[in-house]
Amino acid sequence: MKGIVKTIIFQFAVFSVIACTPIEKQVQVKHDSAPENKVAPISVADEMTYANVNDVRVKHVDLTLTTDFKSKKLSGTAELQLVWLRESTTTIKLDTRDLTISDVRYWHKNAWLPGQFSLQDADPVKGAALVIELPVAADKVMVEYATSPKASGLQWLDKEQTAGKQHPFMYSQSQAIHARSWIPIQDTPAVRVTYSAKITTPSPLTAVMSATSNGKVGTAFEFSMPQPIPAYLIAIAVGELEYQAMSRQTGIWAEPSVLASAVAEFDDTQAMIDATEKLYGPYRWQQYDLLILPPAFPFGGMENPRLSFITPTVIAGDKSLVNLIAHELAHSWSGNLVTNATWNDLWLNEGFTSYVENRIMEEVFGEQRAVMEQWLSVAGLKRDLKALPAADTRLRIELKGRDPDDAFSDVPYVKGHMFLLYLEQAFGRDKFDPFIRYYFDKYAFQSISTDQFVKELNSQLLNKYPGIVSLEMVNQWIDQPGLPESSPNPQSDAFVKVQQYQQAWLNRNLATAALKQVNWTVHEWLYFIEILPANLTMTQMRELDRQLGFTQSTNAEIQFAWFRYAISQDYVAVEPAVKTFLQSVGRKKFIVPLYQLLADSSTREYEWAKGIYAEARATYHPMAQSSIDPIFKQK
Ligand SMILES: [Zn+2]
Repeated sequence: MKGIVKTIIFQFAVFSVIACTPIEKQVQVKHDSAPENKVAPISVADEMTYANVNDVRVKHVDLTLTTDFKSKKLSGTAELQLVWLRESTTTIKLDTRDLTISDVRYWHKNAWLPGQFSLQDADPVKGAALVIELPVAADKVMVEYATSPKASGLQWLDKEQTAGKQHPFMYSQSQAIHARSWIPIQDTPAVRVTYSAKITTPSPLTAVMSATSNGKVGTAFEFSMPQPIPAYLIAIAVGELEYQAMSRQTGIWAEPSVLASAVAEFDDTQAMIDATEKLYGPYRWQQYDLLILPPAFPFGGMENPRLSFITPTVIAGDKSLVNLIAHELAHSWSGNLVTNATWNDLWLNEGFTSYVENRIMEEVFGEQRAVMEQWLSVAGLKRDLKALPAADTRLRIELKGRDPDDAFSDVPYVKGHMFLLYLEQAFGRDKFDPFIRYYFDKYAFQSISTDQFVKELNSQLLNKYPGIVSLEMVNQWIDQPGLPESSPNPQSDAFVKVQQYQQAWLNRNLATAALKQVNWTVHEWLYFIEILPANLTMTQMRELDRQLGFTQSTNAEIQFAWFRYAISQDYVAVEPAVKTFLQSVGRKKFIVPLYQLLADSSTREYEWAKGIYAEARATYHPMAQSSIDPIFKQK
């Protein structure tokens, strides 16, 4: 819907360009200085927040929290620095979900004084508004609170769920609107804050955050984040963690037993940063570290600034799945630097990021691999396009009254990627690359809407080079369902070869044992599985599996692709491995489609999968639970 996204009045960060700067003149950005967090009115309507952002703005958050694994709670205080924008009010509305608020104070005449507050009735999606009524427009309020053991943005893992199995683990996942389940805050991507924190952990556990670590001071780990970020990028993890530097700017936090393999897998990260800087300008967050989480993490990765959170399922031993790192790194430009103002505009984050990810892969690993990854992404998108209601296959979607987590299909990612690739191919890289660079520079540290992007695209490319892409075509991509006919059609020579081999094998001109000798990459094998016909016999499947070992593959993507195919073919030999997979991995991308597929198969498989879920449910993240619960409530 066009109506919901209104124009934002922009703050101009210190490094932003003036509106008439020609595209060729790029902005000079200082690497090591943080931009000023200027506060300006917001005219975009974010349905997902209670915050009265145009009355008062939170500018900085200072957290003092204690981690208690026994009660599965964070407790302590959030001190919020405020900027008042409207003189007629001294009321602050903050977003919360399942928080217990014990006290609210405000800073007045050099003292903390008790403030009046009330927690409103909770909405199942948005949580409850914390309304604080102050007698004066104070500079600071302090909220004393504790989280719930069921906080939607935190997962508390038992020691058995970690690699080391000696200590428990806790981590946050704040996107989309889960920051409010562990911090009382203005939880909208339109508002940016800087933050600092003191986190007390039980010995010998270490706390890490999406911030600069200032070491352990007394009993607490201290952090500071000088760049203004939206609430969904505030992140924390606590566990038995060790650090190893990989290069001047990059390093890895992981459980001790995982650290060496993670370093070996991801040691191209600095090359990825260098490649992206060459394309799109400086990396503005100084350090870039990765945190390897236990397998329960519901996502591939989360782009928490300075410290991306990463699933261990991409440590394949052969760097075959490191495009995930390119993706999270790309968010340092698209998403973290230039942010979607509402979750309806998610494609501005994820479509740009998927596009930049693929450009990084091309720079570091070559064009061949980049194109193969495009093809495989589009195959996934086509599956999603079939399964989703038409309205959710538009780039700009309407989330009013819904959970913004619903926006995370392949549509914003891959359709967004294809839209940008379409523009790149239409205008040529000589024009398109400078445009993207200009866009990142101009809107650095700002949150913007789809309309804002279209306005820039129109003035910088469509109007400057008329007759190449029409505004109607742009609007079709953004607001019409499905994939336009103009969508690029990635073609890989390597995949053509795979297809020929498969055909020869199907025609019995090639022995299965000969397939074993081909020395293909993981991408080629994924393609091979993706294009297997539906009429394979059980004998052929057993033969493939025996020779090529798909069921027992150590590569999570291969296993997932094969399991999906095997389940649809009623190849029951795969069941023990599927069960082990579902019981050991919590990544939504894998487990939700597998449960769905099993539930949609026979009654026997439905009951079998329901039984596995009943046992595994407690080990999954609340966000994974809320995606899978409905699958087993349908029948
Ligand atoms: Zn992403």
